[in-house]
Amino acid sequence: MKTSFPHMGCVTGYKRLLEKLGHEVIMPDPPSQKTMELGVKYSPEFICFPFKVMMGTYIECAQKGAELIVSSGGAGPCRAGMYPDVHQKVLQELGFNTRVVVFDSMFQDFHSFYEKVKTVKNGTPNRKLLGLALFCYILIKKMDKLEKRMKILRAYEINQGDYSKAWKDIVKMFEKCDTIRDVNRTYKRAVDIFEAIPRREVKENQRIRVGIVGEIYVIMEPTVNKNVEEILNNLGVEVENVQYISDWVEHNIMPKWLPFPKSHRVFKMSDKVAPLNCGGHDKENMGWVHDFARRGFDGVVHLMPFACLPELVNLGKFPAISNELNIPIMSLSLDEQMGEAHVKTRLEAFTDLIKSKHYAKQKASIGDAIGSAAQSAARKAQSKAQEVKDNLKTAPAAPIKQHAK
Ligand code: SF4
Repeated sequence: MKTSFPHMGCVTGYKRLLEKLGHEVIMPDPPSQKTMELGVKYSPEFICFPFKVMMGTYIECAQKGAELIVSSGGAGPCRAGMYPDVHQKVLQELGFNTRVVVFDSMFQDFHSFYEKVKTVKNGTPNRKLLGLALFCYILIKKMDKLEKRMKILRAYEINQGDYSKAWKDIVKMFEKCDTIRDVNRTYKRAVDIFEAIPRREVKENQRIRVGIVGEIYVIMEPTVNKNVEEILNNLGVEVENVQYISDWVEHNIMPKWLPFPKSHRVFKMSDKVAPLNCGGHDKENMGWVHDFARRGFDGVVHLMPFACLPELVNLGKFPAISNELNIPIMSLSLDEQMGEAHVKTRLEAFTDLIKSKHYAKQKASIGDAIGSAAQSAARKAQSKAQEVKDNLKTAPAAPIKQHAK
């Protein structure tokens, strides 16, 4: 069957899984301005921005002949719950015979989850399916680990663009992997490639670190967020994004009462300020902001799509949270009219702010250290002087020598 999926960050895992299940994969292009315009044209006017971009991608895939589109989603309570039906209806009305299958957490409704698995597994026996799922999980886990590392190291590259170019080559290497052994070998080669790239040496206390939180689609897809992470890296800032495909899988297959993955613990960290999840990842994002502040990050960039209610709720809370936790938070609202130049200007201003805050904090702590060292030296000198005084008082007077006549 001709099968496709939405473009959302690194898509090698989806591609390899569907290929191994015997599908003919129709690769979606990264969303372009044309994709967004197509999506805007055929979507309900006030629906959230990710719906529109995905609509544009689905139409492009259907035009290329896709018979099945596989995606992951949410059951709500935000608009994520209506994505599958409305996307399907629009495709039908446009005359495409393309089926949309959206996977939710298997704990919500296992029966419907398994029915969808049966559609996608394409007759593959369950034992083989488990082996393929394990292969793909290890593949995405390794790729995500490398991508996370790249977003730290790229901040210090000497020749701008080296890491992004190397990453493109690494993705192609992973696309050729057939077994878990291939994946492990490719991972080692990729680590060597990254290590060989020339970098500036930066002291630990001079590292500037920013966390990225927000709606899952816009924080994972660089063409939609206008390359926020690369822009920050180019400004010398390390970036930590809170969503990767392997993290999403772990979060959704592990029972919530377990303390791992970390997202389960982070989810609970926001209980005080966000007792309810309004949909999407708003509660988890609030937890991540607390986590970044606790780990001493210099700032947080919050990416919210236009017309996204859960992130709008966070937007209202962030000024007070930023004050309380003493961490700058910059929110960016993204839609089809947002340009890269605008995002770059905002990020440059934000980076200047957090850098000056970082160095001011450092100066203050150096001043404090000098002050407390001087105080303790003065205290020591005082006690030494007191000791000498006491010794003089208690020492017996020396006998006066009588000279023999
Ligand atoms: S989280 Fe926001 S953008 Fe995502 S589906 Fe829900 S309302 Fe739409």
